Amino acid sequence: MPLYTTQPLKIYNSLSGEKENFNPIHEGNVGMYVCGPTVYSNVHLGNVRTFMSFDVIFRYFLHLDYKVRYVRNITDVGHIVDDVDEGEDKIAKKARLEQLEPMEVVQRYTVDFHDILKSFNFLPPSIEPTATGHIIEQIEIIKKIIDTGIGYKANGSVYFDVVKYNETNNYGVLSGRNIEDMLANTRDLDGQSDKRNPQDFALWKKAEPEHIMRWPSPWSDGFPGWHLECTAMSTKYLGNHFDIHGGGMDLKFPHHECEIAQNEACTGQSPVNYWMHANMLTLNGKKMAKSTGNNILPGEILSGDNNILSKAFSASVTRFFMLQAHYRSILDFSDDAIVAAEKGYKRLMEAVDALPVISAGATSSIDIASWKQLCYDAMNDDFNTPILIAQLFEAVRYINLLKEGKETITAEDLATFATAINAFVFDVLGLSDEKAADSNNDKLEGVVNMLIGMRNQARADKNFALSDQIRDQLIALGIQLKDGKDGTTFSV
Ligand SMILES: [Zn+2]
Repeated sequence: MPLYTTQPLKIYNSLSGEKENFNPIHEGNVGMYVCGPTVYSNVHLGNVRTFMSFDVIFRYFLHLDYKVRYVRNITDVGHIVDDVDEGEDKIAKKARLEQLEPMEVVQRYTVDFHDILKSFNFLPPSIEPTATGHIIEQIEIIKKIIDTGIGYKANGSVYFDVVKYNETNNYGVLSGRNIEDMLANTRDLDGQSDKRNPQDFALWKKAEPEHIMRWPSPWSDGFPGWHLECTAMSTKYLGNHFDIHGGGMDLKFPHHECEIAQNEACTGQSPVNYWMHANMLTLNGKKMAKSTGNNILPGEILSGDNNILSKAFSASVTRFFMLQAHYRSILDFSDDAIVAAEKGYKRLMEAVDALPVISAGATSSIDIASWKQLCYDAMNDDFNTPILIAQLFEAVRYINLLKEGKETITAEDLATFATAINAFVFDVLGLSDEKAADSNNDKLEGVVNMLIGMRNQARADKNFALSDQIRDQLIALGIQLKDGKDGTTFSV
């Protein structure tokens, strides 16, 4: 029997503002779309936190035996600077400033994004579509929205008429904003814009002559509006009606509000059952911003190469630190906080490593089944990782008492206990046992030092063919020997 049948889950739905029972559209299956990065700069730590929240959500669904299709896009066109309609495309601007092809910018930062996520032990999504790969689908959606009378053409561009849409639908259903207030609080269009109302958003923008990212369309050579790509890619791979749509809190308005409007205008139905939003990350109590220097890159945590840090921290420690906060709470990053997280992570790993040395007895003095259910209860309550971690520390306490012989456990309970701990620590939270990786490093060091010894012997025997062969074959494996006055060292 799949685990999800015995572990019902509640999700906080941004649409209703309440925790709701999770009922997938197709039993045993989850369709989840998460807005991915705009690849015009290095991924920042706040993005890593957002994607980590959804990585753990993805992992937990998999753990519950759901079949998950997780779609996370790459925005490589259409995202205008300052998230507005007038102005320059973020990718195109970067390409102009750095004198690169837009696709060089996209490639550079897509690779950076993948490298960073991999180093923090993220699972790859099931599909990672790009906006530029779905221009045809976006054009088709625009045609449908024009046919309903809600999309209108103006000077080669196409806009979405939010006022007209709001006559029959609710523009503001997700963000709680009210169109009358929005209209009252914006200044009049200054005559420069082609829009009917200031709140209207672009579905298609005509490209200016100097604009290098452009595609042919029935309206002009141009490019799609930013909100449209997510409507096109989510419905293409998950259907017009799917389970979960996620993203950072900052995307709720206008991006996700506009997605809902586009879908409803196009298909007549609301696209998503559960909208999920991950909260932001601050640094030393303040908003992160490159301009003020209150900024840290994810890679700098791993290298320690930032004044904010007292030293380097591992990927697992960083994950552990981030998952100690619930995804809907603001998380503040500071050196003190991650130092404390490192201590907790080490304590947890020491206990996990001690599991195999615990010996079973005739009876159990600990209620393992209840403890395990408390772990599930935490995750079933809107993916509450801090409560899960608190339960894992309860397990650490049990392990220490068992080691000291102050509690007892049967072989069957011990097996259940070990399986559950390993599942929650490694599969669900995505932590890794870095001591195990260290011990592999120790083995590598031992083997290379053995070869260095054999090479020294070959040289002493004047068997230079053999000593050169050892050196060259190590180089072929990416291991460089360096002869110094204190002997031979190596680097990988
Ligand atoms: Zn999106």
